[in-house]
Amino acid sequence: MNNTQLTEDYQASLQAVAQFLRQEDDFLVVSHLSPDGDAISSTSAMGFILKALGKKYSLLNEGHTPQKFKLLLDDEDIINYSSDPVQRTFDRVIFVDCADASRIGQAKQVVADNAVIINIDHHVTNNAYGQINVVRTSAAATVEIIYDLIKTLNISWTPKLASCIYAGLLTDTGGFRYSNTTPAVFAIAERMLREGVAGAMLAERLLETMSLGQVQLMKETLSTLSFSEDCRIAWVKITTEMMNRSGALDEDTEGLINISRNVQGVEVALLFKQKAEHEIKISFRSKGEVDVSRLAQIFGGGGHVRASGATIMGTMEEAVARIVEAVKEKI
Ligand code: 5GP
Ligand code: MN
Repeated sequence: MNNTQLTEDYQASLQAVAQFLRQEDDFLVVSHLSPDGDAISSTSAMGFILKALGKKYSLLNEGHTPQKFKLLLDDEDIINYSSDPVQRTFDRVIFVDCADASRIGQAKQVVADNAVIINIDHHVTNNAYGQINVVRTSAAATVEIIYDLIKTLNISWTPKLASCIYAGLLTDTGGFRYSNTTPAVFAIAERMLREGVAGAMLAERLLETMSLGQVQLMKETLSTLSFSEDCRIAWVKITTEMMNRSGALDEDTEGLINISRNVQGVEVALLFKQKAEHEIKISFRSKGEVDVSRLAQIFGGGGHVRASGATIMGTMEEAVARIVEAVKEKI
């Protein structure tokens, strides 16, 4: 398949979604567990789009919206299924930023068995689980695809909608620094600033500001930093005791993988986070030599070539031994 073909398929899938949104009503928009900036931004942007189209819709996730992302939302918060277990099911469901259908966790309970699923995503491991799949792996963030959808639908910009697009780009590119920061990203960011986005404020609130609990956790995490013999693999660990001691929230672990990632000479960085005594979430980051999306897939996860994740069962020390061994085989 050549590039033109890909572009045509992509445009056709955008048209198909646009037609579906215009024709149908009563949608659910859902994203992945432990939502990041792109997940919340994409969910909120879809809400603004559906509102502009005059549609009925619900935004829902398994967990809560991290406090710092609430400025991206409309008047209402995204429904937290864990604390507000909605009883109904939905027949039209838009998944955003989810590589596979299981990424929405318990929120699957509200997806009807015969639901029409729209899959809007940019992960290389996406397995095309929707009836309509708008998957573009060259997009820096899912919001970049939603930007194309907004243009396809000819929706008017508002500062709030533009802020969602900008925030998703900002967070998924690590502040316009990672290798996914393409000319297209800057072109869209420029356009969004012209639509009234407060860029410096978003960077301050979403990337720079740390809670006290987060700093306490960072202090402890730094002391767990370990290396392989050749120093090309580095990892940090976060146990449930560390979480409790520091008073950090789940979302406060974001960015702590940079402690291992930023060390000179490190090719693959890992973060091991204990979710329960025998449940360990692993974050993988690569400088580019190793495709960590494939590594994560070995353990039932997925993601991008340079950033991926998986969850495995076992103790912290078992997880470290298994994963470090698997990385050594690929490096
Ligand atoms: P993080 O390490 O920040 O949680 O995730 C890095 C990237 O990998 C994100 O794009 C995220 O969506 C993806 N990812 C994290 N965990 C999983 C997982 O368990 N399964 C899949 N398919 N992707 C994941
Ligand atoms: Mn994303």
